[in-house]
Amino acid sequence: MCYNPYKQAKSRFCEVIRLNLTSPSELKEILKRHGFSFSKSLGQNFLIDKNVLDKIVDASGACGEINALEIGPGAGTLSRELAARAKRLVAVEIDKALIPVLSETMAEFDNFTLINADIMDVDIAALVEEQFGGEPFIVAANLPYYITTPIIMSLLESGADVRSMTLMVQKEVALRMAAGVGKDYGALSVAVQYYTRPEIVCRAEPHCFMPQPKVASVAIKLDVLKEPAVKGKDTDVFFKVVKSAFGQRRKTLVNSLAGSPYIKIEKAAIISMLDEMGLRPDIRGEKLSIEQFAELSDRCAEYRAASGEE
Ligand code: SAM
Repeated sequence: MCYNPYKQAKSRFCEVIRLNLTSPSELKEILKRHGFSFSKSLGQNFLIDKNVLDKIVDASGACGEINALEIGPGAGTLSRELAARAKRLVAVEIDKALIPVLSETMAEFDNFTLINADIMDVDIAALVEEQFGGEPFIVAANLPYYITTPIIMSLLESGADVRSMTLMVQKEVALRMAAGVGKDYGALSVAVQYYTRPEIVCRAEPHCFMPQPKVASVAIKLDVLKEPAVKGKDTDVFFKVVKSAFGQRRKTLVNSLAGSPYIKIEKAAIISMLDEMGLRPDIRGEKLSIEQFAELSDRCAEYRAASGEE
C-alpha cells in the first residue's frame, strides 16, 4: 500500500475545515447521534459563535511552543481550535456522556488528551507535571459558571507554571475581576489582581451559546504576573484581611476587621493602623486599593507577631 503523508495531511486538513461545531445544525446532529442531552446543572452552554470563538483562541496565545489546558471541552468546539494551534492540549471534562462525542470531534488530533474528571477533584500541579512534564502552559475555557471562582482560584493557587488564562465567564464576574476601586470592586478583584493582569477580550450575548444562558457573558484574559502585584509580609494575613474587609460590605472596615474570626485584632489597634496610613476610621473596605490592603495586612501581621498571635 502506498503511504502518502502529503495526501493524509491534506485529507486531515479538509476534515478540520469540514467539521463546523459553531454551526447549530451540525452540533445538534453530532450530539443527537451520540444520544447527548444538555445538563443545566453542569453549566452546559456550548459556544456556537465563530467570531467569539476566534477572539478567545487568538487572545489565548495558543501556539506550537506552549501547552494548553482546557476545562470543560463540551463537544470540542474550542478544543479543536486550541489543539490545531497548541503544542499539546489536555482537557478535563466531568461529563462521561461527552467522551464518545469528543472521541469523534477530536479524532484527528494526536496532541489531545481527555481526562474524565471533576476539575475540583484534580490536583492541578500533579496533573500538569504528569501531562506537560513541568513545562509552562496556558489555560483556555468556556467555564461552567457554577464554579467559576473556585476554578480560577485553584489554578492561581496551584503553584503550577500557568502563564495566562483566557476564560469565558458570566459578565458580572468578569467585571468584578477587572474592577479597580469603586463599583464592582471586591475580594475577587483583589485576589485576581494580586496574581494577574486582567483584560476584557469580548462580550458574548446569550444567542452565542446552545442552549442560551439567561445571562450575558464576557471573555477575559488573565495574564499571570511573574511576581504577585504587591509584596506583602504574609500572604495568608493579606487574604484574611481582604476576605474580612469584604465579608460584610455594609460595615466599616474597622468593624469588619474587628469582628473577623480570621484577624483577631481589637478595634482601637485597627483605628490606629488606619490613622497611620492616613485613612479615616469610617472608611469601607471597597475604598482600599490593593497596595493599601498590602500595607494594612503588613501592619496586622506585625501587630499579631508582636502580641504573640500566629
Ligand atoms: N467548551 C465547550 C464550549 O465552549 O462549547 C463547553 C463549555 S460549557 C459552558 C462547560 C463545560 O464544562 C461542559 O462541557 C461541562 O460538562 C463541563 N463541566 C462542568 N462542570 C465541570 C467540572 N466540575 N469539571 C470539569 N468539567 C466540568
